[in-house]
Amino acid sequence: MPKDLEQASRAAGILLRRRRLIVVRVLAGAIDHPTAEDIHQRARAHDAKISQATIYRTLSILLQHKLIYARDFGDGKTRYEDASHGPHDHIIDAATGAIQNCKDPELEQALRDFMLQRGYALKTYRLDLVCSPARNQKHDKIAARSS
Ligand SMILES: [Zn+2]
Repeated sequence: MPKDLEQASRAAGILLRRRRLIVVRVLAGAIDHPTAEDIHQRARAHDAKISQATIYRTLSILLQHKLIYARDFGDGKTRYEDASHGPHDHIIDAATGAIQNCKDPELEQALRDFMLQRGYALKTYRLDLVCSPARNQKHDKIAARSS
């Protein structure tokens, strides 16, 4: 079972003082891909005096230990996510900018086969799928199946 961010931080020897712990818990609880500003805003709900510097210092430490990922989805903003979520792809709605995590073993296998046909063994990959909503039979069938 993967460790949660708080456990992983402690295991990495990171001293989690009260304010750092707030940042770690905000990140661990994020189901989106928050910017440092988003994290600051959420952390202030727990401690009104937490500074932006504390947010950036904590993010920097977590990044150094590879416990979080910093991602740029092309909108010029750096977003952060808990690395314990494991490798996954992203579906980005071009109209709204909404970002969803996506993990599909069939897609991964298709990519492995694609690379194998070209003489390569796929080691790792990262897909950010920028999309706009589609309305057609196939999409509606998939939507109906998953609901
Ligand atoms: Zn993600």
